[in-house]
Amino acid sequence: MIKYSTQFIDDDDVKAVVQSLTSEYLTQGPCIEKFEAEMARYTEAKFASAVCNATAGLHIACMALGVNEKSIVWTSPNSFAASSNCALYCGATVDFVDINLTTYNMCTTKLEEKLIHAKKQNRLPHVLIPVHLGGQSCDMKRIHELSKEYEFKIIEDASHALGGEYFGRKIGSCQYSDIAILSFHPVKMITTGEGGMLLTNDESLQNKFQAYRSHGIVKVSTPYPWSYEQQVLGYNYRVTEMQAALGLSQMKKLDMFVSKRRQIAEKYKTLLADIPVHLHLDAANSKMSYHLYVIRFKEKKHVERKAGIFNFMKDKGVGTQVHYMPIYHHPYYQKLGFKNGYCANAEQYYLEALSIPNHPKLTDDEQLLVVKTLKEALQ
Ligand SMILES: *Cc1c(COP(=O)(O)O)cnc(C)c1O
Repeated sequence: MIKYSTQFIDDDDVKAVVQSLTSEYLTQGPCIEKFEAEMARYTEAKFASAVCNATAGLHIACMALGVNEKSIVWTSPNSFAASSNCALYCGATVDFVDINLTTYNMCTTKLEEKLIHAKKQNRLPHVLIPVHLGGQSCDMKRIHELSKEYEFKIIEDASHALGGEYFGRKIGSCQYSDIAILSFHPVKMITTGEGGMLLTNDESLQNKFQAYRSHGIVKVSTPYPWSYEQQVLGYNYRVTEMQAALGLSQMKKLDMFVSKRRQIAEKYKTLLADIPVHLHLDAANSKMSYHLYVIRFKEKKHVERKAGIFNFMKDKGVGTQVHYMPIYHHPYYQKLGFKNGYCANAEQYYLEALSIPNHPKLTDDEQLLVVKTLKEALQ
């Protein structure tokens, strides 16, 4: 089965993990610090904190920004549910800003309209969580301007976007945000099995991340030399040394992963040229990581038959997926009162979109098979 995305593990990764297993520490040791330092170096964010997954990272980010029962948090409907669940964990109210049909990210025109309306109603968001779909940066410059005007904080859900660039800088630099979150789930850009990273340039936020990921307990110097104190209610969201060792080893291959994914995307441009689909392309000033390669069917007959196309390809050994059903279509969110039709672009996108295989292990022959199978499926 050709998967839409999968991990790339080599002998060096295996050696790194085995070595960490026989070292002095299995958790809270030197590999984690090295992994964090490497991630800060790569993204050019000042601080990096490793956590057990991106969902935990999003939760900690919300807590560190003071999200609570009185807070309003907005995100993109075109994402994995974790992008908005994190706000619900804190008891906040969640709302969604529709996407544009070019990058499939939050539309900044729609965002501004919604902010103007919310201001009149005294319902402005405290935190905005833009999501870089497929590793294509959102329009962060505009989002940042709006955050100054309307006074909200920004958490970038960069789960897809490690290795992607925006105006020549790596996504995760937090140039236009307070916090950025990465995921190291096996389908993402690098993997640690499960894992995530919080990035920030703000030292006070960094101190909060450190406390929240470890029970809210910090080392203090008084009254005793052994003293630890719980100062806030935190969680155990830490990672192991083995995971950090794998992450460090994977980072050595990240640039190769990104260039492989970008080469595959470039080839799709040619291979899909005579198929009636929208291609997944870099926006101006953006260099996607290509965590996903999303095609969008142009013809109604294909849109209507998408489940059949999905099944046909699956039967022929080609795995595809749809990223994403609008978050508010999940039954849990429907119970919160969201109605179908709420974000028209996200709903149209959901009907038309299909993620086709793109990952560093995909061979030329496999990619040709993907396209051949897609063509057959469309007949
Ligand atoms: C994968 C993903 C997450 C959650 O990541 P985990 O590391 O699995 O918790 C959150 N947001 C987006 C957009 C994702 O794709």
